[in-house]
Amino acid sequence: MKYWGWFVVKLVAAAAVLLSVDYAIRALFPKRAPSAYSHLEPFAHDLGYTTIMMVLFLLCYGAVHLIIWDQRTRCRTCLRRLRMPIATGSWSNMMLFGQPKTEYICIYGHGTLDRTRSGSRTPRESLADCGWSRGPGPAGPDGRATGASLL
Ligand SMILES: [Zn+2]
Repeated sequence: MKYWGWFVVKLVAAAAVLLSVDYAIRALFPKRAPSAYSHLEPFAHDLGYTTIMMVLFLLCYGAVHLIIWDQRTRCRTCLRRLRMPIATGSWSNMMLFGQPKTEYICIYGHGTLDRTRSGSRTPRESLADCGWSRGPGPAGPDGRATGASLL
């Protein structure tokens, strides 16, 4: 819940910023002189306004892309960035070492994340099972693993 809550917080923050930029553009864009077509929406009728809106769309797309990219590399328990990427596997020796993938780990011991490098979506990369495997869990007061769950 904490993981998806942070995702929603980032989306809402980005939407607030980008919608305020959209509002500012609409308010500051010069109005057209009264003419036969001045009542039309400037989008697709005014090249300058349409270009600005296209750039704003690209900013929105980039913001959502960055939010999703950032979320996919965060620990589901503590929300910290996953560290220590390790490349494993080999296409040429796949029978010996397995499919190429990159493994990330939470430095606080909450688990690991496997990402394949094939570019195609595999069941390990789906949102239902993001490739998380249980690590030993955080250490308890006696130094032994507590086996805390990732979800
Ligand atoms: Zn963690």
